[in-house]
Amino acid sequence: MSKHFAFVSMTAHGHVNPTLPLVEELVRRGHRVTYAIGPEFHDVVEAVGARLLDTGTVMPEMPTNFKNFTPEAMKPMLEFRLKDVREAFPKMLAHFEQDRPDAVCFDHGEVTGRMLAEKLGAPEVALVPHFAGNEEFSLRDIMMNKDEPDAFDPSHPVLKDFMTRLKEITDEFGVSFDPSAFGQAPPSPLNLVFLPKKFQLRPETFDDRFEFIGPSVGQRGVVDWKPERADAPLLFISLGTVFNQRPDFFRLCIEAFRDSGWQVAMSIGKVVDRADLGEIPENFDVRPSFPQPAVLQHATAFLTHTGMNSTMETLYYGVPPIAVPQMPEQEANADRAEELGLGKRLRAEDITPELLRATVDEVAADDRIRSNLAEMRDAVLSCGGAQAGADALERFLG
Ligand code: UDP
Repeated sequence: MSKHFAFVSMTAHGHVNPTLPLVEELVRRGHRVTYAIGPEFHDVVEAVGARLLDTGTVMPEMPTNFKNFTPEAMKPMLEFRLKDVREAFPKMLAHFEQDRPDAVCFDHGEVTGRMLAEKLGAPEVALVPHFAGNEEFSLRDIMMNKDEPDAFDPSHPVLKDFMTRLKEITDEFGVSFDPSAFGQAPPSPLNLVFLPKKFQLRPETFDDRFEFIGPSVGQRGVVDWKPERADAPLLFISLGTVFNQRPDFFRLCIEAFRDSGWQVAMSIGKVVDRADLGEIPENFDVRPSFPQPAVLQHATAFLTHTGMNSTMETLYYGVPPIAVPQMPEQEANADRAEELGLGKRLRAEDITPELLRATVDEVAADDRIRSNLAEMRDAVLSCGGAQAGADALERFLG
């Protein structure tokens, strides 16, 4: 029987992208999806057949780089989150009270989704585009052991203040969900995790509330893109869509690979100005954004920030990641990829053009990494992706 799903995500590529093939699959099966999201993603959400609910959310710029990833630096973002919850939630509630969903599927970190499910008394499903957490394992604890331990410490005054004020908002709306468990909200009855279980940390602690459906690329994988030359290996470089304001890093990459056999596609994001990168060598194609899954199909190596979606997409296509993480979560992803023998992580303080070049060359030529990637690719593909996610949702609603 046809169902109505409410989708609530964060207005960010890394959170919306993994949900798109799932929405598309649900719509293909005759279900209805209403997707609550800010204007930047209206087109892509409509393109996969969802009906739109505009939350009005427009994300502000994030701090520029990893060294700034402290609670103080994140303060403007936290203030924005409070304002956004206050403004977006009433819109969502008013809409879905009139057009009730059979389930609310929300990004694990998006508090308005939890609030909505509770207010509507609707079954809740968490969408998890990063390492999943449970009663025994928390990504927050892992991140607190990385280079910026304060960034996720819930006893830090900035984060404490944020949690107190968020709790005031949930109280105001009459929601019992307590958001003070910062970064480790409790699991939902069903949690769709966009990772293969093989990549998850502490996989043995996850029970059948968790469906590891892995990544799917959907329409994003069938964009027609080809590198200019067929006779040179392709290196793709990207720091993702958020912590990417690093002209210094992009200049290092130009120095590292200008006189090399690599042809380079370098995604610099929407903020860095190409003119700040100096002369662009002939073997470089520099753009604010590339159709990443399509590019990875042609790539031999990926110099990446290891955001979880980029990590999953590169594993999906069997391309080795050379990791330059920009913040603690990305460090955790990079460390896991390295631990599983899938690629290599570089540390910000060590990076020189020579090291970049030598590491990319070495990883690209490493047969052991290739063979580990092939095994991981099998694991990724056998998760079932969007089909497995839609199956789980249908089972969940009986
Ligand atoms: N992305 C893209 N083109 C680009 C850079 C990024 O399509 O030039 C997509 C990428 O495929 C991924 C998402 O943006 O799906 C980035 O998510 P991720 O979790 O890797 O990092 P974030 O941007 O959240 O830091």
